[in-house]
Amino acid sequence: MRYFDNNATTPLSPAARTAWLEVQERYWANPSSATQAAARARNFLGTCRERLAGLFGVAPARIVFTSGATEGNNALIGEVARRAKGDAPIYLSPLEHPSVVEPARRWFGAERMEYLPIDAEGRVLAEGLQAALQVRRPAMVSVLAASNETGVLQPWQELAAHCRQAGVVFHCDAVQWIGKKPLEGSTATGFLTGSAHKFGGPKGAGFVLLGEGMEGWRGQLGGGQEEDRRSGTEDLAGIAAMVAALEERTASGLTGTTAGRDAFVERMKTRGGRILSEGAERLSNTVAMIQPRYDRLRWISRLERKGFLIGTGAACSTGKEGPSPTLTALGVGTDEARRALRVSASPDAPMADWIALADALAEVEAELDEDSGQERTATVIEI
Ligand code: PMP
Repeated sequence: MRYFDNNATTPLSPAARTAWLEVQERYWANPSSATQAAARARNFLGTCRERLAGLFGVAPARIVFTSGATEGNNALIGEVARRAKGDAPIYLSPLEHPSVVEPARRWFGAERMEYLPIDAEGRVLAEGLQAALQVRRPAMVSVLAASNETGVLQPWQELAAHCRQAGVVFHCDAVQWIGKKPLEGSTATGFLTGSAHKFGGPKGAGFVLLGEGMEGWRGQLGGGQEEDRRSGTEDLAGIAAMVAALEERTASGLTGTTAGRDAFVERMKTRGGRILSEGAERLSNTVAMIQPRYDRLRWISRLERKGFLIGTGAACSTGKEGPSPTLTALGVGTDEARRALRVSASPDAPMADWIALADALAEVEAELDEDSGQERTATVIEI
C-alpha cells in the first residue's frame, strides 16, 4: 500500500514506537503520585518537556502537553474569549481548521468573527492584517501555518510580529507545519498548537506552546497537572513517543524536496487537472487538485483497489453538501469541489512513488472513461 494521506494522519514512526513501548514498561506510574516510581515518571515527563522545548528553542515552562490540536485550539480560544474586553472580535484566516472556527463561533459568536483578506492563492495579506489592526483591536488573531487542504504556507511569523507590535494575542495552528518545515523562528509566535499524529507520533498527544499574557491560564480544570494549566493524568508514553517522532523528523533535515511533487503536478496538468494555490509556496508533500471529470469518491476507491491511499482533504465537509470554507475562499464551486482530491505524501516520499501515483491516476481515468462510455451506450440502447 502506498500512503498519500499524511495530512490526515501518519503511521507511527520507528522511534515513536520504541519510545512508546519503553515508557509504557518503565514509567507507567501516575506522575502525580507520591511513590518513588511516580517521581521517576515525573522526572521523565520533565525530560520530555525539555527535549520538546529544545526543538523550538524555548523555555520548557512554555510547553503544555494536551491530547492534540483540537483540545489546544479549543482551550486557547475559549480562554481568550473569556478574557476579552467588551465585544472585541477574533480575526481569522478563511482557511482555518474547524477546531479553530467552531470554538471561535461558540465563544466569540459569528458576529465577532472577522476574516482577514487573502490573495488569489489563499495567502493572508500582511498589509490586510495591519490595516485591520488599525481599525479595531481584536482580542486575538488566529492564522494557521500551513493549510491541511492545499498545503499553502502562510506568512505567520510576519503576522505574529505585527500582532506583537500591536500588543494583540497571536495564535498559530501549526499542525501541518511541525515535522515538515524547520522549527527555527517558530517562537516568534505567541501561541502555537501541535499534534503528534501528523508527524509520526501517536494519536491523542499534542501540545500548546504558550505565549505571553496568559498567566494563570487553566486550559482544562481538574487535578492540577501541568502546573494547573491542563488537568488530566499525563499520557507519558504518548508524550515520549511524540517527542521521539519530532526529534527523528527534525534530525532527517526537514528539507522536503519539491521535485517529486512538481513532476506529479506536471503530469496532472497535462491530463486537465487544476492545481489549487499553484502559484504559492506550499508544503512539498501536498497537492490539492480539481479533476476534470468524475466524483472524488470514485477516484479514491479505485485508487485504493490499486494500492494507493489518498484523501479528499476536507473538500466537502463530511456529510455536508458544498465545498469546504477553504475551497470556497479559493473560489471553488460546488461542482468542482465534488471533483477535488488531496494528495499528501510522506515528507521523504521518493520521486518513484509520485510517478507511480500519477500512473495509477491515469489508469483509473481510463477505467472510468470506459465505464462511462459503457453507461452512455447502455442509455442509448435503453432509449
Ligand atoms: N488543525 C489542523 C490544520 C489539522 O490538520 C488538524 C487535523 N486534521 C487539526 C487541527 C486537529 O488536530 P487533532 O487531530 O490533533 O485534534
